[in-house]
Amino acid sequence: MTTSQPDWLITGVQIAGARAAGSTDSAADIWISDGRIAATGPDAARDAPAGAERLDAAGLIALPGLVDLHTHLREPGREDAETVETGTAAAALGGYTAVHAMANTEPVADTAGVVEQIWRLGRQAGRCDVQPVGAVTAGLAGKALAELGAMADSAARVRVFSDDGRCVADAVLMRRALEYVKAFGGVIAQHAQEPRLTEGAQMNEGEVSGVLGLTGWPAVAEEAIIARDCLLAAHTGSALHVCHVSTGGSVDIIRWAKAKGWPVTAEVTPHHLLLTDALAAGYDPVYKVNPPLRTAADVAALREGLADGTIDCVATDHAPHPVEDKETEWATAAFGMTGLETALRVVHEAVVAPGLLDWAGVADRMSVRPAAIGRLAGHGRPLEAGSPASLVLYDPAARAEVDPAQHASRSRNSPFAGMSLPGRVVATFLRGEPTVLDGKLAR
Ligand SMILES: [Zn+2]
Repeated sequence: MTTSQPDWLITGVQIAGARAAGSTDSAADIWISDGRIAATGPDAARDAPAGAERLDAAGLIALPGLVDLHTHLREPGREDAETVETGTAAAALGGYTAVHAMANTEPVADTAGVVEQIWRLGRQAGRCDVQPVGAVTAGLAGKALAELGAMADSAARVRVFSDDGRCVADAVLMRRALEYVKAFGGVIAQHAQEPRLTEGAQMNEGEVSGVLGLTGWPAVAEEAIIARDCLLAAHTGSALHVCHVSTGGSVDIIRWAKAKGWPVTAEVTPHHLLLTDALAAGYDPVYKVNPPLRTAADVAALREGLADGTIDCVATDHAPHPVEDKETEWATAAFGMTGLETALRVVHEAVVAPGLLDWAGVADRMSVRPAAIGRLAGHGRPLEAGSPASLVLYDPAARAEVDPAQHASRSRNSPFAGMSLPGRVVATFLRGEPTVLDGKLAR
């Protein structure tokens, strides 16, 4: 497919996440050849061939290609909501070069056959690496372990397992899953939601739910599972990853577990870094999500946790839904929000603009650490000579209203619609090949 890619020379860019201290302060050039970064700095322009494609990146920031640990691509089964093709287009436009595709498809990704199907679809789409996540339990039913070993040994080489959308509530199954994946360096990504405490729950339990008369979803339903699973991770010595942390109490528990040296990592979504449960006041289901939007105090604690590294990374939980599932009454509407195409801009607004994280920190939380947690050796690499040329060029000075009608995602359920957000993804490169140029799909 890739017959002699042209070389590229990206000029005048600020490289975030470069290893050398202070290297983000000055503009640099990046020479891309043969899918890799051939040189950065003064050598790049000197040694690049005269025929190289040139991209003037003055004023732009270069980050390693973003890695999403938590994407719902919906294929197979719900192609009316998203496909691997449209989802990876959305990912590329958001600056992503790799996404982990969650297992709650129809059929569920709980066998070697299904994960290989998704892996192959991703390779055909070509815009972004698609790493399938395998289900922890057969059919997401929470009764018996899925074929974890067969999925790990398959062509898709699954290392992250999750019943996301549902919690592995059974403590024995959770223990067995952790023990099982330890043998091959896998990780169990838990959707922490105690089922009995959240029966019929519609939104965060608190002042707003009381006023609106909607069934509340207490913070303890999340925190109790996270505390239990941190203890199980310590007991088994196996890796736990906590999906979409949404409460300040959860951050405290993870901070405690990390202080003990336990093998625990965690993610937060862009929407939980910016939005609160007050938005539910209009009963607009675009704000209905699992876990629910929480309070301003929770948002502050999540931002702080991301900044101090307690929360390892930002993961989108991109959850596309067709209009008929979302534009209905609050009680019957589906949970979930799209996020791939706005994630970097929301992180800019929520944590970079207030000075909690610099661009090197963003590179760490949106590329380096999620690549490490997802066991993706070819991603999250520093932008220096020898690394795969997977990167995103971002204009921090831009600002625009979010218009979901312009999104490549098949679904339109963005909670940021109409919101003015900073920044613009200008270009994305996957192993030297542009997937996005001038803010549009390159092909
Ligand atoms: Zn989830």
